[in-house]
This record gives sequence, structure tokens and C-alpha cells, in this order.
Amino acid sequence: MRLPAASIRVRLTLWYAAALGVLLLVFALGVYFFVQRSLTRQLDRLLDEQFRAVEMALRGEPDDLEEMAQLGAVPLFEVTTGQQLVYRSAGWGRAGLAGALAARQSKPVWSAAGTDGRPYRLRAQDVPGEGQSYQVRVAVSAHTLRRTLRTLAAILLVGLPLAVGVALLGGYVLARRVLTPIQAITAKAREITAERLAERLPVRSAGDELGRLATVVNDLLARLDDSFQRLRRFTADASHELRTPLTAIRSVGEVALQEAREPVAYRDALGSILEETARLSQLLDDLLTLTRADAGRAVLAKERTQLGALVREAVEVVRVLAEEKEQTLQVALDDTVEVEVEPRTLRQAVLNLLDNAIKYTPAGGAIRVTVGRDANGAAVAEVADNGPGIAAEHHARVFERFYRVDKSRSMQRGVGLGLAIAQWAVEANGGRIELESGAGKGSTFRIVLPRPAGTGADRH
Ligand code: ADP
Repeated sequence: MRLPAASIRVRLTLWYAAALGVLLLVFALGVYFFVQRSLTRQLDRLLDEQFRAVEMALRGEPDDLEEMAQLGAVPLFEVTTGQQLVYRSAGWGRAGLAGALAARQSKPVWSAAGTDGRPYRLRAQDVPGEGQSYQVRVAVSAHTLRRTLRTLAAILLVGLPLAVGVALLGGYVLARRVLTPIQAITAKAREITAERLAERLPVRSAGDELGRLATVVNDLLARLDDSFQRLRRFTADASHELRTPLTAIRSVGEVALQEAREPVAYRDALGSILEETARLSQLLDDLLTLTRADAGRAVLAKERTQLGALVREAVEVVRVLAEEKEQTLQVALDDTVEVEVEPRTLRQAVLNLLDNAIKYTPAGGAIRVTVGRDANGAAVAEVADNGPGIAAEHHARVFERFYRVDKSRSMQRGVGLGLAIAQWAVEANGGRIELESGAGKGSTFRIVLPRPAGTGADRH
């Protein structure tokens, strides 16, 4: 059977109390044995002094032993020689230490109980005399030592569980305090749904671990919120843009069918419908490109490519459009510039820039297309026109999806995806796209691509 997972608070408290308990137990045992050793040593020193006193007395007058016992200098001792008793203090007899002698285990100093039930520390040793040897036994009471140790043990035995108990309580309160913000975060996080991504987790103190966690989650929420909003906007814009050509197709068809018409009128109607259909296909292609780009599924098969040749191909595709508007197309391409790109996506980017330049520059305008290198050796392709230009406040936004500077005027021209696709295509190829323009000053779009690896600076 498995125990249910305890909360962090309970686990934290138990670990804390257990660690403290073990620590205190080790400490208590240490204190106990240290005190015991030190008190026993003290007692042994006293025993030693008393033994020496008896030894001295033995060497002096025979009465000295009795005198010493009566004065109380050495209250418990016995001296024998062979089977014959030389002297036994009154205290020795009272304490009943004869049995304690039997407990001796070949050590000169030992502990044993007297028949009076009290603990004693004893010392026995032979002292050589004139022509005979004396067996001297001295004892001191270990009663105080035992009492002291018992008191100490009692204090430790009561104190230890008490301390662990206080630790449990303190640990629990502390863990609760520390973990309260987590509960607040959990409760708030539960409320946040896809529809309420604008809400944020509470951050009590930004500096601590929980504060940092909440901040990181809040940043994540902000990014999610941003993505969701962009997705919603994108879907709404895309639906709107798809509706416009569809509405046009339907109304052209309805008008054509209202009454019997000349064949030429039907041809006109079918022509408009085809035009709108082409527009619709273009829009769907663009949307598909961007969706693939978003999904990160567009794996680019990069290859060493001549940028000049790639741009020249794109220029040839749009040349007829420029000629229709009687625009001059000035082309200066450096054919030594090589880049590592996927030609198809990069050509799309160049085409979109050329298409815009032709679309927005009035009839008779001039468009200049160049390929070269900048001061750092990076490859640069530029499309410059002398059209209406783009005011500085729109510079950052023209690359956004469905963004058009002048919505009413450009309704017929495009839906605002061209630059978004161009920017994605250039960035996916490792480059960046720059815009230099001002209202009435014409526009210059610049594609900057890194020099392919292994190309020396001597090439420019
Ligand atoms: P669109 O499909 O409308 O051309 P783009 O993303 O290609 O969309 O361009 C976004 C907007 O940037 C256009 O609506 C237009 O207002 C402006 N723009 C782009 N290129 C030029 C240019 N060469 N000259 C003037 N304005 C431009």
C-alpha cells in the first residue's frame, strides 16, 4: 500500500523535524558521555590521592591509618597482608564493600555497588612493606556522580522530544508562510484560460524564487497573449480579405444573370470573375506560405547562389508590368556576389519588393535595382523607386501582416501580405530587410545577406 502523497508543507516540516531530531540526539549523547567521562576522571583523581595517603600512612606509624580514617581524610579503606587484616575503616564496613571487591576484573580501578546499594569507585593495589606486602583497597562514593548523570539524562530525555515538537510546530508555521504565495499563484493560474490571457499571476516580492517564478510565468503569459491576439487578428483579417473577392464574384455573377445579355457582356463578367479568382488564389498562396512559415515546416534547402542572377530573373518576370506603366527599370547587378540561400524563397522576396515598387510608383516613374556588397562585405540587393514613399511612422508596421499604409487607396492593389512574406523569406535565409523612405521621397528596400562561410574578404 502506498501512502497518499503528502503536501510539500508536511514533507518539509517532517524532514526539518527529523533532521533536527537526529542532530539533537547526537548532541545529547555527546554531552552525556562527555560529562560522564569528565566526572569519572575527577573521581579517579580523588581515589588516587586517597590511595597515596594510605600508602604514605602505611610507611609511617601504625596508628597513622586509624587517625586518617577518623579524621575523615580517607573514609573508606582496608589494608590486609595475606589473610590478616591490618586496618579497616568503619565506613568500609558500613558500606559493605567486601562484595564489591569480588567485582574487580583484573583492573586496578573499577566501579561496583556496595551492599548498601550505593555505587562506589574502588582501587586495589599491593604496596610492598618491610618483609611483607600489603593489599591496600580504597573506595570513594560515586553517588553524586550517578545523581548528576541521572539528572542530566532526565533533562536531555525531556528536552529532546520537546525541542523536536517545537521544531515541528515552527517548521509547519514557517512552511505555511513560505508556501502561501504558491497557493495564491495556483488559485490564480487556475482562473487563467485562453480567453483570459490578459490576467497575470500575483508577484509579492520580485526578488525571491517564487517571485521570479511568477514573473517568468507572467512573461510566458504575455507572449501567449500576444500570439493569441495576433492569431485572432490574422484570422479575422484573412476572412475579411477572402470575403472581398468572393463578394465581387457573386455580385458580378448575379448582375450577369439578372437579364438576357449580349455575349460580350458575359465575356466581360467571366473576365472579372477570373480576375477576382486569380486574386483569391494569390491570397490563398500567400496565406499558405505564411502558415507554413509559422509552423516552422518550411525547411530551406540552401545552396550557393549568384545573387545577381537571381535578381535578374525576378526583374525579367516583372519587366512587362513596368513597361505597361511606362516606368524605367534601371538595373546594376554585380555578378560576383554569392550567397547561401534557398533561391525560391529569396526570389519570392525580391519579386514582392519589385511588385510593390511597380504598384506604388506612378506611371512614368523610375525604379532602380542593384546588387552589390556593403562596407562589411555582406551581400546587398536594393529595390529603389521614386514613388510616394512611406512616412517614418509606418516603417515598423509595413512588414506586419495585412498592414497597408493607405487602406482605401490600396484596396485594389494588395492585401498587405507582400512585405510580411518578404521579411519572413529574407530572415529565414539568414538575412535582414531594411527600409529607407520618407513621405514623398521614394522608397528603398534593402535585403542584406551574410557572406557565405569560407568566402574571403578579398572578394570585394
Ligand atoms: P500590399 O499587398 O498592400 O502591397 P505589402 O505588405 O507589400 O502589402 O506592403 C504594405 C504597405 O506598404 C502597402 O500597402 C503600401 O502602403 C506600402 N508600400 C510597400 N511598398 C511600397 C513602395 N515601394 N512605395 C510606397 N509604399 C509602399
